Amino acid sequence: MRIGRTLPPAASPIYLRDIITGIKGVFRGKEELERFKSELKEYFGVKHCFLFSSGKAALTLILKALHKIYPGRDEVLIPAFSCYSVPSAIVRAGLKVRLCDIHPDTLDFDFEQSAMSLERSSDGLLAIIPTHLFGLPADIARLRELIDDIKITIVEDAAQAMGAEWNGKKLGTLGDVSFFSLGRGKALSAVEGGVILTNRNDIAEKIRNQLAWIPVYNIVALMRLFFMAISLTLFLHPALFWLPKSLPFLKLGETIYDPHFKMRKMSPFQAGLSKGWKKKLKEFKEIRTTNSKHWSKLIQQHSNYQLSATSYQLGMSAVPSLIRFPVRVDNNELMNTILTESSRLGLGIMPTYPDSIDGIQEIIEVFQGQRFPMAKKIAHQLITLPIHSFVSKKDEEQIASMISQIDHYEPSAIP
Ligand SMILES: *Cc1c(COP(=O)(O)O)cnc(C)c1O
Repeated sequence: MRIGRTLPPAASPIYLRDIITGIKGVFRGKEELERFKSELKEYFGVKHCFLFSSGKAALTLILKALHKIYPGRDEVLIPAFSCYSVPSAIVRAGLKVRLCDIHPDTLDFDFEQSAMSLERSSDGLLAIIPTHLFGLPADIARLRELIDDIKITIVEDAAQAMGAEWNGKKLGTLGDVSFFSLGRGKALSAVEGGVILTNRNDIAEKIRNQLAWIPVYNIVALMRLFFMAISLTLFLHPALFWLPKSLPFLKLGETIYDPHFKMRKMSPFQAGLSKGWKKKLKEFKEIRTTNSKHWSKLIQQHSNYQLSATSYQLGMSAVPSLIRFPVRVDNNELMNTILTESSRLGLGIMPTYPDSIDGIQEIIEVFQGQRFPMAKKIAHQLITLPIHSFVSKKDEEQIASMISQIDHYEPSAIP
């Protein structure tokens, strides 16, 4: 266990002043929620916005709404490498998970496979969820071209991409309906939270119909939120992050599959915490982009590492707005050395999801006989470098020096 400066893998700081606007929000109540909602609608240029307790709650409500519109359909197609919250929400909505393998450079769908999957699909497919993983833009225009059945809805998973733009378009406005997460470690954090955006009146109406059944935060849950906000203000800082990180019961950084999560309407406290979100998001984005460019250069100098979906690989001119910088290391031993060193030195380099979706124990039988080799491979090869505002010059030097040293590494056992 390390005691001392430790970087979190991702961080969207919550400041003391946010907590103060959060408390003011509690007193303003519904008005505060309406303010947040109308700011979001204006900024993203969408007609409808809904606020909930998490990204997975938001996704569940979207899927339930779609199932009301198209009751004969019950399958949802997602990338085989994604956040475990996504299958959790699909199962929670009473629907079936269908997987498509990914492309290793973009982490987006492997489009040849998704085309085949769409051709094979009978009329059971309700929705497809393209995902901007780590902020890497998924190619939604290309996906749209593949779909010739207008009853299949594109649900854009922009959980990690709030405030990101691609080719002049805001991510989160490209699907028929989309959602953001305001969880810890996302682009912007309100301790937890989920935002739905859509221009489709039919979807909005079905979501509105469900609102009466969704509870608000009770006083105990609200107190928990408040203390979590205080803890994040203190403990996200590298000087103290080693402390929560060393307490296993906090389950920090663990990705779990659990369809029994709480679903609530967002509280005015969270809306208040998010006050000034546009400015915050812009500042975070600038810092993350600067750091991403730095890592992009460094990694290109070292042949043992492969970047996933850097702008240069995609032939694009801009750097995507990432929240963690993904790097693929295709040598297992090298990867373990990096992770061990990072953990020893507190550098915030972390693996991502422990396995592809078909490897999740609780739902493993659903995918019997199917294989998603690239998703599986990426799950075991992908690490991320930190790019958030707590990364100092000295941290950067330490990470750079470690990567350069390990780059001279020769595989000890050649099979
Ligand atoms: C975090 C995340 C979610 C779920 O959001 P929560 O607010 O944690 O429920 C969904 N999809 C992706 C890609 C995510 O990263």
